[in-house]
Amino acid sequence: VIIPLMGLGLAMYFYSAPENFNEEMLRGKRVIVTGASSGIGEQMAYHLARMGAHVLLTARTEAKLQKVVERCLELGAASARFVSGSMEDTAFAEEVVKEAENTWGGLDMLILNHIGNSYFNYFDGDVDHIRKLLETNFLSYVAMTVTALPMLKESEGNIVVVSSVAGKAGGPFVAPYSATKFALDGFFSSLRHEFIIDNVNVSITLCILGYIDTDSAMRAVSHAIKVAPSPKEECALEIIRSGALRQRELHYPPGIVSGMLLLRGLAPGFLDTLIRSNVVVENVQR
Ligand code: NDP
Repeated sequence: VIIPLMGLGLAMYFYSAPENFNEEMLRGKRVIVTGASSGIGEQMAYHLARMGAHVLLTARTEAKLQKVVERCLELGAASARFVSGSMEDTAFAEEVVKEAENTWGGLDMLILNHIGNSYFNYFDGDVDHIRKLLETNFLSYVAMTVTALPMLKESEGNIVVVSSVAGKAGGPFVAPYSATKFALDGFFSSLRHEFIIDNVNVSITLCILGYIDTDSAMRAVSHAIKVAPSPKEECALEIIRSGALRQRELHYPPGIVSGMLLLRGLAPGFLDTLIRSNVVVENVQR
C-alpha cells in the first residue's frame, strides 16, 4: 500500500503548477475557445487576443464570429480565425480540433465553454431535449478532448471546462442543464485522476461559475433570480488565469461559490433551502 502511495505522491509532486499569473504566459499560445460568438466565450477571446495568443474560435453564428475575429486582430492576437458549426454533432467538434492541428500543428489550451439552448422552468418531461443537450453540453466536450489529447500531451497544455454551480448542487428549473454540467464534473474529475496516475502533464480546470451578466443568462433568469450577476469580463479573465495556473477548480465569484460548496458538504438541506429562497417562483410561468 505504501509504495504505490509514495509513487502517487511523487507523481503529484512532479505535476508542478506555476504559482503566479502573468499575461505573458499566454503570448504565442495556441488556444481554442468554444462558444466564442457571445457572452463569456467572446470576452475570453478578447483577453487572449490582448495577451498575444493565437485563437481559434467556434460557435454556430458565422456573422458574429467574423466580428469577434476582427476585434481580436485589432486587440493584438498573434492570429485569429473561426470555424462555424453546431456542437450537437460530435463530428463537428472533432473537425474544430483538426482545424487547429492543420493550422498550427499543435495546441496549448482547449477552452470548452459552449452550451446549447435550454429552458428555465419546471422540467417538462422531454427526454429527447436532455439527450440533445447532453450531445451539445457534454459529449462534444469529450470528443474535443479525445481529439486534442495527443497535441495537449505534446505541449503539456491545459483543458479548461466551463461549468456552473448547477453542476455541483441542484437548483429548481434547470434539470436538463444541471444534468449536463454534473456529467462534466464526473467525467473530467475522473480523467484528472488518470492523468496524474499516468504522469500525463495536461491540466484539467473545472470552472464553477455563479450568475454572470451575459445577455443570454440575463434574458433567461433575471426575472426570477434575486442575486446580482457578476461581470462577464472579469469572469472570462479568471477562467484564463485559472487554466494557465493549472488550477484544479475555479470558483467565481469566489465568496459566493466557495461558500455554497462548503455548505453543500456541511448542511446540504440548508443549502437547498437557500437556493430555493433565491428564486422568485411566482415569476416562473409553467
Ligand atoms: P452564451 O449564451 O452567451 O454563449 C453560448 C455560446 O455557445 C455562444 O457563443 C453560442 O453561439 C454557442 N452555442 C450555442 N449553441 C451552440 C451549439 N449548438 N453549437 C455550438 N455552439 C453553440 O452563454 P454564457 O456566456 O452565459 O455561458 C458560457 C458558459 O458559462 C456556459 O458553459 C455556461 O453554462 C457557463 N455559465 C454561465 C453562467 C451565466 O450566468 N452566464 C452561470 C454559470 C455557468 P451561437 O448561438 O452562435 O452558436
